[in-house]
Amino acid sequence: MKIKFIGVGEAFDEELPNTSIQVVVEESGIEHCILLDCGFTVPPCFWKSCPDAESLDAIWISHFHGDHFFGLPALFTRFREMNRRKPLLIIGQQGAAQTVTQTFRLAYPSTVDKLGYELRFVSLEPGEVVSAAGVVWRSALNGHSRRDLAVRMEKGGKSVFYSGDGLWTDETLSLARGADLAIHEAFRIDAEFPGHATVSNCIDFARKANVRRLALVHIERNERRLRRGDILRMAAEVSDLEVFLPEPGDEILI
Ligand SMILES: [Zn+2]
Ligand SMILES: [Zn+2]
Repeated sequence: MKIKFIGVGEAFDEELPNTSIQVVVEESGIEHCILLDCGFTVPPCFWKSCPDAESLDAIWISHFHGDHFFGLPALFTRFREMNRRKPLLIIGQQGAAQTVTQTFRLAYPSTVDKLGYELRFVSLEPGEVVSAAGVVWRSALNGHSRRDLAVRMEKGGKSVFYSGDGLWTDETLSLARGADLAIHEAFRIDAEFPGHATVSNCIDFARKANVRRLALVHIERNERRLRRGDILRMAAEVSDLEVFLPEPGDEILI
């Protein structure tokens, strides 16, 4: 699995694009490309990373906050301009089809019905297992102010977990168990904030779940800048797994 951090920021960071991750897997010589979340500042970064209209196979939407899905109308419309023909999978919780379609209609009403390619919605609720875009998908409920599902994707014995937004729960802990990589939001460093995780409780989570690597994303913009040294120190003190702070454009292989 190739993981590329398209964006690592929180909702309103003027420098870092919203958190969004590209995952590429290979199956029988064919590459499948997946995007995890697509907030309002993500599309330009995605186009720089992936200028081809047909490469993207599926988009996972963790929840319906703007910094996680308001980029979709732009992405869909540019694919139309680029004459995309391949269906695009949109995977997420129940009701995603209606919310995404309404949002798209609000942004570009005349485009929705003449897109030239199909938006294929796939529901993935906790407890369900879906095979799509070359990976096996599972989800679990996180603790956030809007209903957020964390997701786990597996392929060929490798696995990646992505929290979306929210505090970890017993359900997300068991979803992440043994993952090669957990990508978790850590909105604050140590001060608790309702509906969000902290750097320290993400590290606890990763230890309890026995994950090998932990990427910390969606960190509050001022804390990330002013207390970067503290975050890196906390990461360096962890010896039983690798904890890191990705930058936009960083790529890793798992
Ligand atoms: Zn967010
Ligand atoms: Zn949110």
